[in-house]
Amino acid sequence: MIKMNGVIKRYGNLVALNQFDLNVEDGQIYGLLGPNGSGKSTAINSMLALLSIEKGEIKLFGQRITPTSYAIKRNIGLVPQEVAVLEDLNVQENVDYFCGLYVSDYRERKRLVDAAIAFTDLDKFRKFLPKKLSGGLKRRLNIACGIAHKPSLLILDEPTVAVDPQSRNAILEGIKALNQQGTTVLYTSHYMEEVEQICTTITIMDKGKGLLTGTKEELKASVNLGDQVDIRLINHKAEDMDTIRSLPYVVKAELVEDHLKLEMARGESRLASLFHVLERQGIGMAEMSVRQPTLNDVFLEVTGKELRDHV
Ligand code: ADP
Repeated sequence: MIKMNGVIKRYGNLVALNQFDLNVEDGQIYGLLGPNGSGKSTAINSMLALLSIEKGEIKLFGQRITPTSYAIKRNIGLVPQEVAVLEDLNVQENVDYFCGLYVSDYRERKRLVDAAIAFTDLDKFRKFLPKKLSGGLKRRLNIACGIAHKPSLLILDEPTVAVDPQSRNAILEGIKALNQQGTTVLYTSHYMEEVEQICTTITIMDKGKGLLTGTKEELKASVNLGDQVDIRLINHKAEDMDTIRSLPYVVKAELVEDHLKLEMARGESRLASLFHVLERQGIGMAEMSVRQPTLNDVFLEVTGKELRDHV
C-alpha cells in the first residue's frame, strides 16, 4: 500500500530522510517508532506529496503520488501531529467539513459523520467548539475528522502526544477496531509501549534511516537480547558465580549486593533448570523478577542510546 525506496529529503544541510525505505502492506497496523526529530513526520509528508523529495521513489496503492493525486488521496485519512480543526466550527460541523472534502452526498455524509462521532465517543460534545474541549477530546476530534470518509489507509502522526491515559487507551483501541474493519494503518510514535501494544509490523528509525523492521518478536530476536532475571539470594558464596556463569543459557551474570542479576537466553523456559542448579549449590532464593526485553532495549542495542532520553 505504501512503498518508499531510497528516499532522501533535506532541509538545507540537514538530512531528514537518508535512503529511507518503507513497505506497508494491506491490513497491517504499521508502526514507525523513533525519537523526536528522527524523520517520522517528514516521511509522512513526503509520501503524501506534501513535501517534495530530492531522491528516491514513493508509491501509494501502486501509483506515484503528486500534489494533485486526488483519486488516491480520497482513500487516505491523515491525522496530523498538530490538531488541525477549524476553531469556528463545532465538533459535528468540523467532522462534516472534513468529510465533505470527499463525500458530496448529504445523506451519505450525515451517516458517515454520525458514525465517526460515535466511534470517537464524541456524541455528548457535538455542539462544542474546539476551544471548549480538553486536549484528549480535541485529539479525538482530530481523529474523527481523519476517519469520517472511511479511508482504506489511515495515517496517524503521534496522535496521543499530551493525551491523558484514558483517552490514549480509547484512541489505541479505536485504531485496532478500525484495523479489524479493514483499514490499513500507519502509526508513528516515540512511545514504544504504544507501538508494542497495537502494531503488527514496526520500523525503528533514527536520524532519517530505518534501522530494523519486523514484528516486535522479530525485532527483539534480531538483537539477541536475553531476559533480565533478578533473584535475591540467601547463603551464596563468591565461587557460586563461576558455576552460574558457566551455564550455557546465561549470557551475563553479576552479583549486586545479594541480588543475582542475569541476562538469560529464553530465560523463562530455563528457570527450572537454574533453580535446580542453585538448589544443588545450597543457595536459597527470596524474591525474583523476570523482565523480557522491550523495544527500548532493542533501540539501545542498535543505536547505543535510550529511546526514552530523546523524547
Ligand atoms: P519526527 O517526526 O520524527 O519528530 P521530523 O520529520 O519532524 O521528525 O524532523 C526530522 C528532522 O528534520 C529534525 O531534525 C527536524 O528538526 C528537521 N525539520 C523538520 N521540519 C523542518 C523544516 N520545515 N525545516 C527545517 N528542518 C526541519
